[in-house]
Amino acid sequence: MKTLGYAAHSADSDLVPYHFERRELRPNDVAIEILYSGVCHSDLHTVNGDWGDQPYPLVPGHEIVGKVLSVGSDVKNYKVGDQVAVGCMVDSCQKCDQCHNHEEQFCRHGMTPTYGAPDRQSGEITQGGYSKHIVVREEFVLSIPESMDLSRTAPILCAGITTYSPLRHWGVKEGSRVGVVGLGGLGHMAVKLAVAMGAEVTVISRSKSKEEEAKALGAKGILASSDADEMQANGAAFDLIIDTVPVKHDVNVYTPLLDVNGSLVIVGQVGPLEELMSVPLVFNRRSVAGSLIGGIKETQEVIDFCAKHDIYPECEMIKMDGINGAFERLAQGDLAHRFVIDMSSLSVD
Ligand code: NAP
Ligand code: ZN
Ligand code: ZN
Repeated sequence: MKTLGYAAHSADSDLVPYHFERRELRPNDVAIEILYSGVCHSDLHTVNGDWGDQPYPLVPGHEIVGKVLSVGSDVKNYKVGDQVAVGCMVDSCQKCDQCHNHEEQFCRHGMTPTYGAPDRQSGEITQGGYSKHIVVREEFVLSIPESMDLSRTAPILCAGITTYSPLRHWGVKEGSRVGVVGLGGLGHMAVKLAVAMGAEVTVISRSKSKEEEAKALGAKGILASSDADEMQANGAAFDLIIDTVPVKHDVNVYTPLLDVNGSLVIVGQVGPLEELMSVPLVFNRRSVAGSLIGGIKETQEVIDFCAKHDIYPECEMIKMDGINGAFERLAQGDLAHRFVIDMSSLSVD
């Protein structure tokens, strides 16, 4: 199938229109018309080459929602017209213990990311959601309830699951005290989801400038990491902290905020951190951990959780040709919400 997307052709070039082919349907494939695509900071890291060399041309995007266009002969769970989604993975071995345990993101043979990796069968490079169509095997397609407004759901597919998964894994419940470091795409979903789980949530931001947004999302308020006195006054105040900061940083600033047995979970920076001090960990049995997106079953769970609790990401709609400006804004870190591309702004003709 011929399609059109926006691709980066090198680490320092803008994204530009790119015509390419989606594979012909295999028996278990679903072809999707992409209607909206979220803009994750990981897209920016990847096209910039922050995580190593990339197989350019590269079409990013892993917060994908749309409608089923056609299905392969063996597809059981989807039909033409269904509201569906694709997140950060499009395949895994489906045979190892992690895949059987519904944690395909930890597949022993490596999951296949939505863009920038070889397809397990053909070897052709996967291309993501900044495009009009995608073809994905049924097991990696998610269902969006018909009751949901599709235009506001895309960021659940990465920002949602990436924060939901650790909130669940670390047992957040009524009364849990949760801190969220960095109020951006991931951070704002972490606040909404933790609040819906009954937690008392505080945003830990570089300054108080996003206080209004934090409160509107349901947080108690903002703790400014630049204010040493305020940080000291909040020692031992949290059971769990989700850290979404997208660059190398000093987590020792945050570990003293954890109560005894508390955990700081890194979901933001994938790479080096400043040297980790053990004293705050050893003395109060605190942990520093990491978490990667979530499995397909749990991704469906967070979509259904959002439907049930009427949770939508805060989406700022942009046109496809606004993507390079959106990347510049994202790099500045001043957004407290998500950009979402309206794919109807990209014409195939
Ligand atoms: P984002 O929208 O840019 O938000 C990041 C937030 O971090 C900013 O809004 C800002 O919040 C804070 N921040 C930015 N620059 C900073 C700096 N230099 N020092 C301290 N804080 C800074 O990004 P995102 O889409 O939420 O993604 C966040 C990170 O998560 C990215 O690195 C992305 O690659 C990663 N990610 C990981 C996973 C996973 O599975 N683990 C999944 C998706 C994304 P304040 O203004 O409030 O300080
Ligand atoms: Zn992402
Ligand atoms: Zn596997």
